[in-house]
Amino acid sequence: MPEIERTDDEWRELLTPAQYQVLREAGTERAFTGKYVDEHADGTYLCAACGAELFDSSTKYESGCGWPSFYQAKSAEAVELLTDHTHGMVRTEVRCRRCGSHLGHIFPDGPAPTGERYCMNSISLDLAQQPAPADRPQA
Ligand code: FE
Repeated sequence: MPEIERTDDEWRELLTPAQYQVLREAGTERAFTGKYVDEHADGTYLCAACGAELFDSSTKYESGCGWPSFYQAKSAEAVELLTDHTHGMVRTEVRCRRCGSHLGHIFPDGPAPTGERYCMNSISLDLAQQPAPADRPQA
C-alpha cells in the first residue's frame, strides 16, 4: 500500500482537474504539450501529488517522444512499476511509490547507462530548481 493514502474526494480537493485526470485516473497528456518537454534547468523533479523526489534533472534527456524522459529514477524506491494492459498494449506503468499516483510508463529504448526511458507526464511532476551558481553565496 502507498505510504500516503487519500480518498478520491481528498485528491480532487488537492489537485486541479487536469492533474487529477492524469495522476489519479492514469490519463496521458498530449505529446509535446507538457511544460517540461523542453525543460533544461537543474533540479529535482518531485511528484506533483505528494512532493516525493522522483527524478534528478541530470538524468533527463532528449528522447524526441514528446514527453519529458529520464533514463533513471532518483532512487529505485521512489517509483513502483506495474504491468498495464490498457489500450490494447502491454506496457509498464510507473507510479509514485509514496502516494500511488500515475506518472507515466517506462520503455526499454533509453540511452546508456540504463537503456530505460521513463516517459513521464509533465503534469505529474513539479521541478524544484537548483539556484544558478551565480545566485549561490560565495565561499
Ligand atoms: Fe507521489
